[in-house]
Amino acid sequence: MSTVEFKTRAKLLLQAKRLVVKVGSALLVDAKSGRLNRQWLGTLAADLAAATARGQQVIVVSSGAIALGRRQLGLTSGTLKLEESQAAAAVGQIRLAHAWKEVFESAGLSVAQMLLTLGDTEDRRRYLNARRTLDTLLKFGAVPVINENDTVATAEIRYGDNDRLAARVAQMASAECLVLFSDVDGLYTADPTSNPEATFVPEVQAVDSNVVAMGSGPLSGLGSGGMATKIAAAKIATAAGCNLCIASGRRAHPLRAIIAGQRCTWFRGSDTPTAVRKQWIAGTLRPRGTLCLDPGAINALRRGKSLLPAGVLSIAGTFDRGDTVSVLDAQGSEIARGLSAYSASDAALIIGRKSRDIEMVLGYRGREELIHRDDLVLLS
Ligand code: GLU
Repeated sequence: MSTVEFKTRAKLLLQAKRLVVKVGSALLVDAKSGRLNRQWLGTLAADLAAATARGQQVIVVSSGAIALGRRQLGLTSGTLKLEESQAAAAVGQIRLAHAWKEVFESAGLSVAQMLLTLGDTEDRRRYLNARRTLDTLLKFGAVPVINENDTVATAEIRYGDNDRLAARVAQMASAECLVLFSDVDGLYTADPTSNPEATFVPEVQAVDSNVVAMGSGPLSGLGSGGMATKIAAAKIATAAGCNLCIASGRRAHPLRAIIAGQRCTWFRGSDTPTAVRKQWIAGTLRPRGTLCLDPGAINALRRGKSLLPAGVLSIAGTFDRGDTVSVLDAQGSEIARGLSAYSASDAALIIGRKSRDIEMVLGYRGREELIHRDDLVLLS
C-alpha cells in the first residue's frame, strides 16, 4: 500500500470525534538510561494539541510508571516481584503524570490523571461512573491521562498491559479511533524479527483466528504488551465500533506522521460506537425494572432528551444503578430501554419530582436525569 493510500486511511483518525492514544513504555522511557524521553513526548503533546484544535477530544493512555519508578528505586535488572512493581509504579506514576502535565501545559492544554483498575472497567456501576467522569473532563477541555492503578492491582485482578486497558477506555468513552503507539510499525503475517517471509498487513477487516495467530511475536523490553495484547485490544475496540491503528511511535510527531501517510495497520470498527452501545442496551435479555412515563416525557424522549424523574408516573422491579430498565407508556407498551442512574428504591423517592429536589429528598446530589440520553435507546 502506498503513502497516498495510508494517507487516505488516516481519515479514520482525522474524522474521529474522540481519539484515544496509547503510548507504550518503550517509547516513553529510554531503555538504557531509564530516563523519560521528554523531547519526544513534547512532540506528541503538540500533535495532540493540534487534534484538539481541530475539534477532536483526546484521551491518553500512558504506560511507563513501572519503568520510571524501578530506576528511581534502584531496581535496575531482572523481573520485578509483584510488590516491587507495585512500589515502582507508585514512585513512577508521579513522575509520569508530572511529565504529561508539563508537556501538555506547554502545548496549552490541561491534563487530568485517572488511574483505573480492572474492576473499574468490568463492574457496571464503576464503569458508568468512570465513563461519566471521562465525559465531564472532556467537556471541560481537560485531557485525561490514564494508566492502570498498578499500586493496588494484583496479578488476578489486573490488566497488566495497557493495550487492552486502552481498548476498554476507548469503549467506555465511545471513541471512534484508538491509536496504539509502540516500537512496532504494525501487524505482520508472522514475527518479522525471526521470519524473513513475514509481510506487512495494512488493514484487518475482522479479528479472526488467522489474525490472532499472526500475533505470536516477541515482547518489547520495557512494556508488558506484545502483538498478542494489541490484537486482543483490537478485538475489544472493533467490537465496540472503534477503529484501531497500530503504529510506530519511534519518530518525532508520531500522530502527524500517520496523518501524512506513514504505514501502520488499521483494524476497522464493526459499526459506530454509539450504534454498538445502543444495540447492547436494546438487546438486554431481561431488563430489571420498568418505568412508566407521562405523555410529555415520552415526547421529550422522542426529541432526543434525557429522562427526568419528573416525567415518571410509576416504577416497578428491583434494579440497581446502571441496570437496564424498560421505559413504558401509560398503556404499558415498551417505548425505550435505558440504564438507570438510580436504584429502584431511590428512583421511587424522586419520581414525579423536579431534578432540583433530588438532593433534598435523597440527601445526596445525584444525576439530574433518571436515564441520560446517551444511555437510552428508543424502541418504537
Ligand atoms: N501500567 C504499566 C506502567 O505504567 C504499563 C503496562 C504496559 O506496559 O502496558 O508501567
